[in-house]
Amino acid sequence: MNNIAIPYDYNIICQVCRKKIKGSEALKDWRGFIVCKEDYETRHPLDIPSPKMPGQRALPFTSPEGTDVEVVVTPHALAESEGVPAGNFDTNNGTL
Ligand SMILES: [Zn+2]
Repeated sequence: MNNIAIPYDYNIICQVCRKKIKGSEALKDWRGFIVCKEDYETRHPLDIPSPKMPGQRALPFTSPEGTDVEVVVTPHALAESEGVPAGNFDTNNGTL
């Protein structure tokens, strides 16, 4: 079928189906194979991984929640830190 001589054209063999085709009909696919029109295929977009998966992208900014600090407050420690006057309510220390 492709034995007709066409000036400035030549026969090649499809690298997939081994069919003889003219060089002007041949196509180079994504794998680098020289193929006929029927065997030509483009690369599926999902074959090409994205440069970075969504979980690997750097975030533009962050504001993490701070860590909790546990503080034990006892009545004695509160009295020392805030300067609660010592004494009791039985006497008025001579002020009244
Ligand atoms: Zn072919």
